This record gives sequence, structure tokens and C-alpha cells, in this order.
Amino acid sequence: MTDTVLISGAGPVGLVMALELARYGVPVRLVDRMAARAKTSRAVAVWPRTLELLERAGGGLSAELVSLGNPVTVANIFAGASEIARIELKEVVTPYPFVLMLPQSETERVLVRHLAERDVAAELGVELTGFEPDEAGVTATLRHADGREETGRYGALIACDGAHSPIRHRLGLSFEGNTLGNDWAQGDFHIEGVPFPPSEFATWWHEEGPAVLFPLGGTRYRLILGLGPSSGAVPPPPSFETFQAILDRRGPSGIRLVDTVWTTSFRINERQVNAYRAGRVFLAGDAAHVHSPAGGQGMNTGMQDAMNLAWKLALVLRGLSTSPLLLDSYDPERRAVGAEVIATAGRMTRLATLKNPLARHLRNTVMQFVLGLPMVQHALEGELTETATHYADSPLNGVSWQSGPRAGERMAPVEGEAPYGAGDMPRFALRVGAGVEAPPAGVAGPLVEAAPRPNPVEGGIELVRPDGYLALSVADGEWGPVAAYLAGL
Ligand SMILES: Cc1cc2nc3c(=O)[nH]c(=O)nc-3n(C[C@H](O)[C@H](O)[C@H](O)COP(=O)(O)OP(=O)(O)OC[C@H]3O[C@@H](n4cnc5c(N)ncnc54)[C@H](O)[C@@H]3O)c2cc1C
Repeated sequence: MTDTVLISGAGPVGLVMALELARYGVPVRLVDRMAARAKTSRAVAVWPRTLELLERAGGGLSAELVSLGNPVTVANIFAGASEIARIELKEVVTPYPFVLMLPQSETERVLVRHLAERDVAAELGVELTGFEPDEAGVTATLRHADGREETGRYGALIACDGAHSPIRHRLGLSFEGNTLGNDWAQGDFHIEGVPFPPSEFATWWHEEGPAVLFPLGGTRYRLILGLGPSSGAVPPPPSFETFQAILDRRGPSGIRLVDTVWTTSFRINERQVNAYRAGRVFLAGDAAHVHSPAGGQGMNTGMQDAMNLAWKLALVLRGLSTSPLLLDSYDPERRAVGAEVIATAGRMTRLATLKNPLARHLRNTVMQFVLGLPMVQHALEGELTETATHYADSPLNGVSWQSGPRAGERMAPVEGEAPYGAGDMPRFALRVGAGVEAPPAGVAGPLVEAAPRPNPVEGGIELVRPDGYLALSVADGEWGPVAAYLAGL
């Protein structure tokens, strides 16, 4: 019997972690100290790579999310009346060529339901109060809402316990970074008079700070406002009238807030933990990284942490991998991605909050030119959609053949094929060119899908990880490196 994995925190990252492990046959316990789920929208952007990876869970998960959300394909940036950029998501090859606007509460609700179909329920009102890691696992203590305590043994502990992660503190890990010097407010409102369709969102750069408007579907919008330099405690969110007045100053005339769904104010932290793993304890999501909401990557990056770790942990806990390589690769792969996300979101935020008039003028001129370049638009598209996310320096990478994608790169889902890593076991997929002879015995086994998939475009042999990244590629007939790679896991 495989050891149970304990997941502390049933936010979006904990839910995805539980779903991935459960479908790969690993028993999980998912606990959260909250008494009830938050109903507020919080993170509203689900990017294509997240949808591609969630679809692997089956049950039409991503299609269901898409059916509930509002797909957005254009990002507009204005400064006053002049358009700085119009960035269209049109180049990226994905079944989901848009950013899906969906309140986090809805995303969580769908994940909870899909977990229930696998007989897993988050235990709310249950707090992790202590743990002792050792070589083989973790002994953890849980306190129930009625004060009852229990101590149990787990194969691993996953910290999906948010930005203030008690597990991170208990492990003594650092969470280096900065608190940025501006205050922000955001709110969801019903709005009338928005001068662009619901498939577009807009940012207005302004000397006081930016205003950003995301369409959540129907008349509901998310409005984010930079409030200027911080002093003292984070201020309460502005009144309805002040939100309207600020938007009037920064955006075009005629946009009318009708009523408020919810509002909040915040300060931006940019921080990353110095290690995503301590033995059999792993950190994922906000517990490992926090950053500016510019770009809306936080929840997505956290979910992708979970999807990176789950298949590796499942192979190890199910006894199908004995090499330390798999679990060792989690930290370098996801720490590099997290650092990149923090840096990009920080750059976008600093650019939008420039105070100096000369710097703002220069920014507007340069960005109008630079963001109009197809090459830049393409790069930005890849970064935002997280379809350009890759593991170029991963210790898991094998050789790369001379042509085609390099080891560590994303392999886009292929229409008509099951997603890589779908099903009840994390299996690598083989893609083989036309006329390649059947794989030898060393390439068969539980780690690999039974039947190779065709590789008509690139030719050669490609081995694709269960999370849809290229493990290695070799020329036709060169089965040796493939067999050696699998034997090394
Ligand atoms: C008000 C607000 C607005 C936001 N707006 C945006 C936005 O516009 N865009 C964006 O990208 N992101 C936004 N975020 C951030 C986004 O919500 C997070 O990135 C996302 O929720 C991270 O998910 P997570 O699962 O890592 O952590 P969380 O969602 O924080 O979940 C962590 C969970 O761990 C639980 N927990 C903690 N300690 C313990 C313990 N000892 N035992 C058991 N359970 C424990 C907590 O109760 C919590 O439910 C917002 C967040 C908030 C709070």
C-alpha cells in the first residue's frame, strides 16, 4: 500500500495537488484550518498552460472551467487617450488560445467537485499544528475544530499553506524579497459603458498610478488601481465613489460603476523561498512564491508547481522510481520558473507605476514602438500564457536531437490525442517518426505508454514527460539513450 500524502492547505494549489495525486493512485489527506471556503473572487486569470495541464485530470475539467468563464484574447495599454499597445493572443498554439477570466471561488468549486468524484474531500477546520520529517516520510499532528488532536504517519507533506506558510516557518526556510512601495486597491463591480468588448482588457497608465479593467463576464469587471506611495498601514479600500472618481481621471469617460461585488486593498510582496523541498516536505504555490498580481500568474504558477511535483511523487511513492533524480528535480525546475515569474511581474508593475514625468514620457514612446514589434508580442504572449515556460536547465533533461524541440521544452497538446500524462498512472509518451521500428524491450514497461504516438512533423524519437515537457529526443532508431534514460529513473 502506498503511503498517504498529507497536503496542508486546500486553496487552489492544494486542491490541484490532491487531484493529481489521487488520480495517479496515491492516497491523500487534504486539510485546511479554514472553517469554510472564501466566496470572494481573488485570482481571476487562468492561463492556457494551466488549462492544458488541468485537462490531463480527465472528466472534462478544463472544458468545464472554460464553460464558466470569460475568454479574453486582447490586452490593451493606453496612456491618456493614446494607445500604447494592443497585444492579441493569436500566435500561441494551444487548445485554449485565450486567458480565461474566472473567479477563484468558481475555479475552486469545480476542483472540489472533481476531487469528490475521486472520493477525496478537503477536511475543513483541521489545522496542521506540528510535524517531524525523517528520511522516509513525515509524522504530523492535526488539530480538529473540536480541539481533538491526532498524530499520523505520511509518505510526504506538501505545504500548500499560503503566503504565510507555517510549514515554511517551521522548516526555518527564508522567504527573501521585498515589499514594494505602493498601495493598491481592487474590486469587482458591475459596470456599464465599457468602450471595448468583453474579450478585451485594458490598462491605463497615469501619473497617479495605473488603472486596470478585466472583464469577468456580463457586466461584472475586476478593477485594479494603483493608489500611490505607501505610508503606514495598508489603507482600507476606497469608497465606491472614489473608485469611480479615480477611474474617471485615468480611463476614458463614460465608464460607470453600477454596484460593488467586493473590494480590498493590498501591498505587493515579491518573495521566494530558498528551497522548495526539505526531504519529504515540499512547498508549492504562495507558500513558495508571492509577487505582483500584474500578469495574473500567481495561482497559475502555484497550480503548475503542483502538477510538476505530483507525477514525480506518485512514481516514487508507488515504487516505480527508485532514483533520487525525480524528487531532486522539483526544486531547480520550479524555483527557476518562480524566479522568472517574480521578475516579469515586478518589471510590469514598475513600468506601470513610474512617477518621474520624463521617465513616463520615455516609457510611453519606447513601449509604443517595442510592444508593436511582432517578435516582442510573440515573446510576451509565450510568457504570459506560460506556454513558453520550460525547464532548459533541468537535471531531468536527456539529450536533444539536432532538430525539433529541446529537452525541457513544452510539448503542445496534439488535437485528437489524449493529453500527455492523462490517465491513472504517470506515464511517459513516446513519439516516433514514420517507419521507426517498434521500441525494444528496454523501452517498454510501466513508465511508458503502451503504444508510441506518431511524430510526423519532427521525425525521430521523442520521449515526453507526464507533464508534457520533452525529456529527450534522438534520431530514428537510436533507442539506446531512451532505454538508458528510463532505466535511470
Ligand atoms: C484578497 C485576495 C485577492 C487576490 N487577488 C489576486 C489576483 O487578483 N490575482 C492573482 O493572481 N492572485 C490573487 N490573489 C492571490 C491568489 O489568491 C493566490 O495566489 C492563490 O490563492 C494561491 O493559492 P495557494 O493554494 O497557494 O494558497 P492559498 O489560497 O492562500 O491557500 C492556503 C490555505 O492554507 C491554509 N492553511 C494555512 N496554514 C494552515 C495550517 N497550519 N493547517 C491547515 N491549513 C492551513 C489556509 O487556510 C488557506 O486556505 C489574491 C489573494 C487574496 C487573499
